Amino acid sequence: MKALLVIDMINDFLDPKGALFCGAEVRQIIPPLQEKLKEFREKKLPVIYLCDQHDPEDQEFAAFVPHAIKGTWGAEVIPELTPQEGEDIVPKTRFSGFFRTPLEEILRKKGVTTVCLTGVCTSICVMDTAADAFFRDFKIEVFKDCVGDFDPEMHEFALKRMARIYQAKIL
Ligand SMILES: [Zn+2]
Repeated sequence: MKALLVIDMINDFLDPKGALFCGAEVRQIIPPLQEKLKEFREKKLPVIYLCDQHDPEDQEFAAFVPHAIKGTWGAEVIPELTPQEGEDIVPKTRFSGFFRTPLEEILRKKGVTTVCLTGVCTSICVMDTAADAFFRDFKIEVFKDCVGDFDPEMHEFALKRMARIYQAKIL
């Protein structure tokens, strides 16, 4: 079974007023992602949101400006992609959606064998989640028009690397 993973589509990354806005171009992934959500929901396939949720003192802020502080507007999923009732929202504190989260357990319980990755940023949280999915023997699909990065070069590199190294299907 396939599951749609929606990675870090939160206000701080996607809203121009967000703390770590990825850029206007990245917002272009919103409409195709809305289509994917519709498709998965119609087919009754699992939709799982992975969302950064940091403590105000998180050590990640040594490298990035503070963002996605637990309980704030910035950490909420953007209104265009609001989760529906019954859909899992998995909070995470590091790039990979598997690191110190119940994601693997949730996927196994649902009988998921293929994770379909969407969201931001292609070269950071998407690629690191792909790595951890690969290490756990999940098959990987990446919907190319549903992932974005503030750095276009890194975006292309990440797609190439996920295809070559993690056997991801880039669709
Ligand atoms: Zn973060």
